Amino acid sequence: MSLELSKKAAAVKPSSTLAITAKAKELKAQGKDVVGFGAGEPDFDTPENICDEAINAINSGFTKYTPASGINELKEAISKKFKSFNNLDYAPEQIVISNGGKHSLTNIFTALLNPGDEVIIPAPFWLSYPEIVKLAGGVPVIVTTTKEQNFKLTAEALEAAVTDKTKALVLNTPNNPTGMLYTEEELRAIAKVAVEKDFYVVADEMYENLTYGDQKHVSIASFGKDIYDRTITCSGLAKSYAMTGWRIGYTGSPLAIAKMMGSVQSHQTSNPNSIAQKAAVEALNGPQDSVEAMHTEFDKRRKYMFERVSNMPLLSTIEPMGAFYVFVDASQVIGKSYKGTKVESVAQMADILINDYSTAIIPCADFGFADYFRLSYAISIEQIEKGLNRIEEFLKSLQ
Ligand code: GLU
Repeated sequence: MSLELSKKAAAVKPSSTLAITAKAKELKAQGKDVVGFGAGEPDFDTPENICDEAINAINSGFTKYTPASGINELKEAISKKFKSFNNLDYAPEQIVISNGGKHSLTNIFTALLNPGDEVIIPAPFWLSYPEIVKLAGGVPVIVTTTKEQNFKLTAEALEAAVTDKTKALVLNTPNNPTGMLYTEEELRAIAKVAVEKDFYVVADEMYENLTYGDQKHVSIASFGKDIYDRTITCSGLAKSYAMTGWRIGYTGSPLAIAKMMGSVQSHQTSNPNSIAQKAAVEALNGPQDSVEAMHTEFDKRRKYMFERVSNMPLLSTIEPMGAFYVFVDASQVIGKSYKGTKVESVAQMADILINDYSTAIIPCADFGFADYFRLSYAISIEQIEKGLNRIEEFLKSLQ
């Protein structure tokens, strides 16, 4: 058969974070002692009060369709959280609840983009942004940041990348994969460019609860009407509440965009899972002590991992202040020899680590930084220690 498939879909690469994680899980299932630094997925169980609410939802028959963009009770809980945590006024009708953060992004770009519209994505970036933009008919424009600027986009670099086709900027803080947080001053400078040059900001704030040290998360849309009108603020429950599998993401946006996203969703998926929505209400409105406990544990792991990686031969990194990743420069590994074979790339290093050391890392070529890899510290400190020992052993074996 010679029927051609969709060019748009063919241009999309499968998600390597998910592929590597699946491989690590598969090896574990085969009995291998694998350490998985792969996907950013908290190792904690979803807190019990949240699970109980889901069970209640099932037992009370809350198992039918809900309004396509989500139940009002959850929109109200999100609206309250936007006000108290982000200093943002989004009325319930400005909120769209979707099947996870990726689905929110898909809705956003479907609502914003016409064929050929450009979306500026600072690199390093979470690998799914360019693919989702392409699927929505847009053109990703990658702007590479530098280590000297802590991998953060500057207003000057942003302005230089703007063309008459620029429709939006993707701004991810706290950042996956770098763990960096934008300061209020940096965000204000970026907001000024967005307003002056008139484009949208897709503010992905999925890791907003996971910040460490004194610096707090700031939402770009909170700076005033001009930037609020151009921003879609996007978050979800997966990371802060250990709810990755429940698939609940959400957006706050200007009403016209929310309506459009809601109608797109009404045809593509209908409502997000009714039971997960009830659980999400409990997550946001219920006691937050388990979230606090997870956060404290993440911080311990962060410090431990940063310290260890900083002291390893051939690697360098900068201290992450948010999310749960350490972004590691492995450029000095390239060109070394492992068991008589030259290591040509970080991807090859990742293959050696999984095959010979049963340790999964994420090589960051798909994140726009081929000489780097990402380690997730959303696994136990014992696992982190074991995995880092293995990486160190590998590094010491290089010639
Ligand atoms: N967002 C997480 C990560 O970067 C989960 C995997 C994925 O969706 O890419 O690891």
